[in-house]
Amino acid sequence: MTQAEEDAVTAVLRSGWLTTGPRVKELEAAVAAYVTPPAEAVAAGTADRARAETTPLHGVAVSSCTAALHLALIAVGVKEGDEVVTSPYTFVSTGETILYLGARPVFVDVEAGTKNMDPALLPSAITPKTRAIVTVSMAGHPCRAAEIAAIAHHHKLPVIEDAAHSLTARVWDVPVGTQADVTCFSFYATKGVTAGEGGMVITKRADWAERVRRLSLHGLSAAAWGRYDAGGWWEYDVTELGYKYNMTDIQAALGLVQIKRLHEMQARRHAIVSRYDAAFAGRPEIQTPTTRPGIDHAWHLYPIRLHLDRLRVNRSQFIDELRKRNIGASVHFIPIHFHPFYRDKYGYKPEDLPVASGEYQRLVSLPLNPRMSDADVNDVIEAVTDIAVANSR
Ligand SMILES: *Cc1c(COP(=O)(O)O)cnc(C)c1O
Repeated sequence: MTQAEEDAVTAVLRSGWLTTGPRVKELEAAVAAYVTPPAEAVAAGTADRARAETTPLHGVAVSSCTAALHLALIAVGVKEGDEVVTSPYTFVSTGETILYLGARPVFVDVEAGTKNMDPALLPSAITPKTRAIVTVSMAGHPCRAAEIAAIAHHHKLPVIEDAAHSLTARVWDVPVGTQADVTCFSFYATKGVTAGEGGMVITKRADWAERVRRLSLHGLSAAAWGRYDAGGWWEYDVTELGYKYNMTDIQAALGLVQIKRLHEMQARRHAIVSRYDAAFAGRPEIQTPTTRPGIDHAWHLYPIRLHLDRLRVNRSQFIDELRKRNIGASVHFIPIHFHPFYRDKYGYKPEDLPVASGEYQRLVSLPLNPRMSDADVNDVIEAVTDIAVANSR
């Protein structure tokens, strides 16, 4: 956070308008503009699915990416008893929002390199009950949206992308926000752009955007700021069961400044990643993250994979050794089918999703954020190298 974020939030507090209002509208427009394919990409014909050229994108700000996923599922028509095909390699939001609707999450295994859904396995997961596909772009590496869209199109299924990690990610210059029918972003504290908490739905479908907006504020026919504005009117109708998922102007003001700083923050993430890649390239115990050709990686996370056959420690011990050297590391994520609630409810065994289960055992996310100094980066490199060398076999 810089002085600019503090000033923007203070201005909202002084304005007297705290909840959903003009700053939220601005953030919706800013994010929609940010993920609109650049003219050059459209001209070069790389813009995914030609509708991107002429159809403007709609953004609806909500209280979290979890709320965005929940409302996106409703908007595309998921109902009780339906199946929704998704990836196990994600944060639990992706699974739980499907369950909120009484639908069943059906997990498709991932590709080892990116931990994103493997499109080759998708067709066999689709049944007559399937109502939607939810893809995830893990760590900031876009999923195989074009292959998935082709399969979805064949089965007339909508695709929702959980792009919580991937606001700045691109595929052949096309931003992730246009690859799926609906894209959901997160402005949670640790994400690439934060509003403290927050989320956004991006879609080309004006009717879906309108529905999400209505559902995010109790299903009211007119938003509160329209009612209380000069010229506003007191009447409103509740047209369907809604939720309390709106974003505040305090959050949006913070998010707007962060978007302005995004270029600078991303440059720092990329610089840190280059240092890590160079430092670990020659270490046989460590595999650095994969980036497919044509991809601009958002680098939300830097997940290394341990070659466990070349180490005398397992992943947990490796993280413990990092902690002893004062380096905080984590694992993103424990696959959903490992969590007792999902495991017991659906009877999943690790071997049902062998790639996700196997990769999970060897992953370590190293520290990565724009506030890290060069000295911080050196500390991480030294600690990782030291542990790898000391425990090599
Ligand atoms: C953070 C995250 C979410 C949830 O975002 P919130 O804004 O905290 O609700 C969803 N999916 C993934 C993959 C995430 O990392």
